[in-house]
Amino acid sequence: MDTPLLLLLLVGLLLFVSIWGVATARRPSSDPGEGLATSTEGMKICPRCGMGNLWTERNCSACGNALRG
Ligand SMILES: [Zn+2]
Repeated sequence: MDTPLLLLLLVGLLLFVSIWGVATARRPSSDPGEGLATSTEGMKICPRCGMGNLWTERNCSACGNALRG
């Protein structure tokens, strides 16, 4: 009587681990084009060159690229 319960627990654990693994693994690579966050607190990161700009800036101070937000 022990084996089916153990199997059920193992299958459940495997399912949980795989779902959790997929959910967490997707986060960093969901958008490969954006390794950096486009905006942090008080700063905007230029999507083109990665330069940190003030959040009030509309264009990147380094390359002039339009900033989002
Ligand atoms: Zn830039």
